[in-house]
Amino acid sequence: MRNKYFDTIFFLASAVLLGACMQQKPVSQAGNYVLVIHGGAGTILKKNMTPEREALVRAGLEAALKKGYGVIQAGGSSLDAVEGAIRILEDDPMFNAGKGAVFTHDGRNELDAAIMDGSTLAAGSVAGVRTIKNPISLARAVMEKSEHVMMAGRGAEQFAAEVGIEIVDTSYFRTEERWQGLRKALAEDSAKSKLDHSYIPPHKLGIVNIDNKFGTVGCVALDKKGNLAAGTSTGGMTNKKYGRIGDAPIIGAGTYANNQTVAVSCTGWGEFYIRNVVAYDLSALMDYKGLTVEEAGKAVIKKVGDLGGDGGLIALDKNGNMAMPFNTEGMYRGAVTKDGKIEILIYKN
Ligand code: ASP
Repeated sequence: MRNKYFDTIFFLASAVLLGACMQQKPVSQAGNYVLVIHGGAGTILKKNMTPEREALVRAGLEAALKKGYGVIQAGGSSLDAVEGAIRILEDDPMFNAGKGAVFTHDGRNELDAAIMDGSTLAAGSVAGVRTIKNPISLARAVMEKSEHVMMAGRGAEQFAAEVGIEIVDTSYFRTEERWQGLRKALAEDSAKSKLDHSYIPPHKLGIVNIDNKFGTVGCVALDKKGNLAAGTSTGGMTNKKYGRIGDAPIIGAGTYANNQTVAVSCTGWGEFYIRNVVAYDLSALMDYKGLTVEEAGKAVIKKVGDLGGDGGLIALDKNGNMAMPFNTEGMYRGAVTKDGKIEILIYKN
């Protein structure tokens, strides 16, 4: 009798336990992410993508994720992980940062980048540089080796030479694909020659079937000490006016990190991100309103859309929860969890 009684209790307890286990979302990795990257948002449609191109993009994202993960795994700082991952993407011509950057209206490459340390709120950024191989490293040098936050153009390049940052010839950044992208954009523009030259995504003009991705790169990371960092690097937007600066190097607009809340890197139509102060707004929504990273991410992308802009962002909170919202057709994006599991996504669904 007694044994039967215990058997029944044991059976019931097991059933309850099993039920509880089955109710847990099997792939929910809340709180497990350590590094998230993006390679730009825009009209990225599967039907326009060749398998070769997709493989190259995936390989680039994977290499960046592995680089960043390696740093964190070895006990390195989130700042080092962010810089390391972004350098990989800057060197990869598939992305609109460093080599492979888009062209300005007058046929040059002008690069913007920013990095921010969530533990100290220190930040550094560069805008409109033309000869810096890895703008993210120059942004970090501005943060660590100058008394400033933001440096632009020639002065930033002079500073780079002084602190030993690698300088290359302007021709280093040129790729045929981006050059053709400018020619296409110029052709569209001449039809609207009285309009401002800032790049208007073709779908906004009713022109379809044009590969219109933005391609900026960004990274957010959380290290073993609980420190957050964020970085963004870009060539900006095709056919941007000479001297135009986007959101990426503007702290609080395209890039922001704060150990109390979240690390954010944005990609999209920069003017709208600047006007919405997107990255800081996301952090403020979490801070003041108690929103989760997912809720705050959705809210700020909605605000960008409401104003007429498009793009996306990646965000990683202090507890390792992440969000990757966007309102474009796709966004190159990827994440790695504590246990080294890598996820890479491109399209909406
Ligand atoms: N946000 C960047 C800019 O406006 C472009 C991009 O994300 O690709 O410069």
